[in-house]
Amino acid sequence: PFEVLVIGGGPAGSAAAIYAARKGIATGIAAERFGGQVSDTMGIENLISVPYTEGPKLVAAMEQHVGEYEVDVMNLQRAEKLIPAAEAGGYHEIRLANGASLKARSVILSTGARWRQLGVPGEAEYRNKGVAYCPHCDGPLFKGKRVAVIGGGNSGVEAAIDLAGIVGHVTLIEFGDQMRADDVLQKKLRSLPNVDIRVSAQTTEVLGADGKVSGLTYTDRISGESHQLDLEGVFVQIGLVPNTEWLKGDLELSQHGEIIINDRGETSVPGVFAAGDATTVPYKQIVISMGEGAKAALSAFDYLIRNSVP
Ligand code: FAD
Repeated sequence: PFEVLVIGGGPAGSAAAIYAARKGIATGIAAERFGGQVSDTMGIENLISVPYTEGPKLVAAMEQHVGEYEVDVMNLQRAEKLIPAAEAGGYHEIRLANGASLKARSVILSTGARWRQLGVPGEAEYRNKGVAYCPHCDGPLFKGKRVAVIGGGNSGVEAAIDLAGIVGHVTLIEFGDQMRADDVLQKKLRSLPNVDIRVSAQTTEVLGADGKVSGLTYTDRISGESHQLDLEGVFVQIGLVPNTEWLKGDLELSQHGEIIINDRGETSVPGVFAAGDATTVPYKQIVISMGEGAKAALSAFDYLIRNSVP
C-alpha cells in the first residue's frame, strides 16, 4: 500500500509525486498516459524559466525528474473507481481498468481535462497547425494575423477579447442565435474595432493549404447559406471537459464536473486531494498545475502526519 497515490501523470501529477516522494513516504503514480495534455502540445513558451520547450521534451523531462525519486510509476493504467476510506487514516481504494486495485492512505487526483472538439473535417488534421485550443498559450503565435474563435460562451468571448489585442482580426462564431457570455464581456467585445461576430453559424470545415490552416466554412443556420472565411488560425472554445466521469458520486464535483477543492487542495473526502485541470482551480495552465500538484502533496503529507498511526 501507498502513503500517497497520485492518479494522473501530467504536470500536476508529476509535481505531486515529486513533492510526496521527497518526504520519504511510499509514493505511487498511476496514469493512463504519462505526460497528459503536454504530450499533445507543440511549442511551450510560458513555463517560467524555460523560454521555449516542446511538449514531448517537457514530458521526457518530467519523467526523468520523477524517476530521480523512489516513485512507483504505473503508466498506461486507467483508474475506474475510488472507494474512500471508512475512517480518517484508513486506506482508500482505487480500482483500475485492468482489474487490479491499489490502496493508499492519501490520494491525489490529477486526471486533467480535455478540450471539447468541434468534430468537423480539418480540425484534427490542422491541430497545432493553426487549430488551437488555448489563447493564453498560442495567441502570440498569431500576432497580426486573422483568426476565428468558435464559441460565444464566457471562454470564447474572453478569448476573442484577449486575441483582439494581439492578432490582426478576430471573427467570433457562435452556433446559437446569441452569445451566452456575460453581458459585460459581450459589451466589451462589441466595442472592439477588429472583431466581427457571426451568430447562428455552424462551423462545417477547417480549410487548409500547404499543411496549415487557410480558412473555415460555416453554414448560416437561418438562411442555410454556406460562407467561407480566409484565416490563419482557429481557436476552438466550446468547453474544457474534466476527466472526472469516473468519480461521480464518490466526491463533490462542480456543475461542470470539476473536482471541488479548497485552497489547500482538499476535496470533500478527507485524505483525498486534487490538483490541476481536473479541479475548480481557475486558469488551466502547466505552471499552475505544477504549483497545485506541489500544494496537494504538501497537504497530503500534513494529513498523513495528523491521521496515520505510525
Ligand atoms: P493533464 O495534463 O490533462 O494530465 C492528466 C493526466 O491524467 C494524464 O496523465 C492522463 O493520462 C491521466 N488520466 C486521465 N484520466 C485518468 C484515469 N481515469 N486514470 C488514470 N489516469 C488518468 N498550458 C501552458 O501552460 N502552456 C501551453 O503552451 C499550453 N499549450 C497547450 C496546448 C494544447 C494543445 C493543450 C491541449 C493544452 C495546452 N496547455 C498549455 C494546457 C496544459 O497542457 C494543461 O493546463 C496541463 O497539462 C494540465 O495539467 P494536469 O496535470 O492537470 O492534467
